[in-house]
Amino acid sequence: MDKPLMLITGGSQGIGAATALLAAQAGYNICFSYHSQASFAQQISTQLTELGAEVLYVQADVSIEADVLNLFDQIDTRFGRIDALINNAGILRKKLVVDIDVKELEKLFGVNVIGSFICAREAIKRMAVSRGGKGGVIVNVSSIASRVGSPFEYIDYAATKGAIDTFTLGLAKEVVAEGIRVNAVRPGIIQTEIHAKGGEPGRIERLKSVIPMQRAGTAEEVAKAILWLVSDDSSYTTGHLLDVGGGR
Ligand code: NAP
Repeated sequence: MDKPLMLITGGSQGIGAATALLAAQAGYNICFSYHSQASFAQQISTQLTELGAEVLYVQADVSIEADVLNLFDQIDTRFGRIDALINNAGILRKKLVVDIDVKELEKLFGVNVIGSFICAREAIKRMAVSRGGKGGVIVNVSSIASRVGSPFEYIDYAATKGAIDTFTLGLAKEVVAEGIRVNAVRPGIIQTEIHAKGGEPGRIERLKSVIPMQRAGTAEEVAKAILWLVSDDSSYTTGHLLDVGGGR
């Protein structure tokens, strides 16, 4: 039987890349998107191939509908199936609300929220049993920021993740009869480049002491939670928000 296909948005780095590597080890073929850093995408693709996965990687800005449609077209042509979608691509920028720029705010919601909606829509069209699909699994990557609100850092980012939590809770019920499970992981502070990209390379060092476990998590620790939500081991779990935050 053909291997199942997992699509991971933003799979070239951080949590997305760790998820791709674990999924390849678990027997998935992988399609992942990247946005700007083709060299990282190439490196991850090589590692995935060495793990025995068939790999497709596609440049796509998930906030642009045409890019997402092209991504799914390429999956249709190459694999003809999609079994799991990981809505992982995300951005942030440290800024007080009083300094917010509307164009930046639109981009943030475009990538973190609208991108997840468009990808889910395209996945559901292909997974839904009423449309001839075989069902599937969607995992949204939210954040503990949705609970804590992230004052003095990025309330706008936290609000995008609040939207992702609500999206997860509603969508899980909307598509349950279509054979599709929908869950989210909510990582805490995880060692990836997102903090430096967002303007604070020393963020983990500054905040380590507020985490009950007194350390940041790793991308692999989040990836393991995602793989559990994708697997049949979580077959009775849908509409769940799984915190991976070291007790925070
Ligand atoms: P990361 O290391 O910065 O990786 C982000 C990935 O998203 C990269 O592959 C990047 O591609 C891609 N990406 C960026 N902009 C994109 C766009 N417009 N369209 C499509 N892809 C785009 O970040 P990460 O820490 O792994 O974060 C992954 C997810 O976890 C995000 O949703 C984030 O909000 C969430 N999260 C992270 C933490 C944390 O502490 N790290 C905590 C809670 C939640 P390029 O590199 O090619 O640009």
